[in-house]
Amino acid sequence: MPKISIVVPCYNEEAALPLFYQEITRVAGEMDYAAFEFVFVDDGSRDGTLPILRRLAAQDKRVRFVSFSRNFGKEAGMLAGLEAATGDFVATMDADLQDPPALLPELYRAVTEEGYDCAATRRTTREGEPPLRSFFARLFYKLINRISDADIVDGARDYRLMRRAMVDAILSMREYNRFSKGIFGWVGFKTKWVPFVNVERVAGETKWSFWKLFLYSLEGIIAFSTAPLALASVLGVLVCLAAFVFIIIVLVKTLAFGDPVGGWPSMMCVILFLGGVQLLCIGISGQYLAKTYLETKHRPVYLVRETEEGIQ
Ligand code: UDP
Ligand code: MG
Repeated sequence: MPKISIVVPCYNEEAALPLFYQEITRVAGEMDYAAFEFVFVDDGSRDGTLPILRRLAAQDKRVRFVSFSRNFGKEAGMLAGLEAATGDFVATMDADLQDPPALLPELYRAVTEEGYDCAATRRTTREGEPPLRSFFARLFYKLINRISDADIVDGARDYRLMRRAMVDAILSMREYNRFSKGIFGWVGFKTKWVPFVNVERVAGETKWSFWKLFLYSLEGIIAFSTAPLALASVLGVLVCLAAFVFIIIVLVKTLAFGDPVGGWPSMMCVILFLGGVQLLCIGISGQYLAKTYLETKHRPVYLVRETEEGIQ
């Protein structure tokens, strides 16, 4: 019988976990043509998440868990889950039931019968989301698809079911700065997109503020595109051209009308503008340098403190 691993990153999900477990076991029961394994990753939760996982693992042999030594972020959680998963197929989904487990049979069918390597989900509406957030999200997807060669779909969730080959491809990308949406797109393979209507989380609170999402999107751009670096050179050329035109204007004006002094305000504007452009460009190079610095340290992406087999 083929085995499906379900990877679930959890951070402070004590309220949602029991509901999630109930729902996923119900769906697993319906899919009696496959064996299941549930890999929960406790991302350094400060609430009762870990005790719940210990209890579930004790009463259900299919439940396994990895508990981190501290909060390493969702990306680290997904990596740990994918590494721990042993199934022929691996699905990743959130613990808050915003990724409906009821879609699993459809995803599984796409991979086993329709010849896809992966079935991924995207939500069709952004209802219940602040308009400003939706606006910036749309902008981000437009921008990153233009400037990177990873195909990143608007509204794509991290809820997907993959064949082993694709999971191994993802695990072969050993980068420290992980941006899953980009990694999924970068490895390629045949992906079927399954749309569904956005659902609110069942319990608990979202861990993403607008600011966190903004920083996350910058990470994505830096990880999957070098276009901002080219922007610096392009800006440089444009400013040089403008300067050249300006020199000619000043020369002609001085020769024709005299009076080379005056124009203090315009001078200030030019100096401030150029200063700004230079700082911006240094900042962009700095971002890439910082990421390179972090990559070269080869630090582990996460540290494990406990698994279902006991404290490490
Ligand atoms: N999560 C995690 N580590 C973190 C933040 C979130 O493992 O540092 C998990 C969280 O428990 C949930 C999933 O990532 O299962 C998505 O988080 P959330 O629902 O808060 O994000 P949203 O759906 O609002 O984008
Ligand atoms: Mg959520």
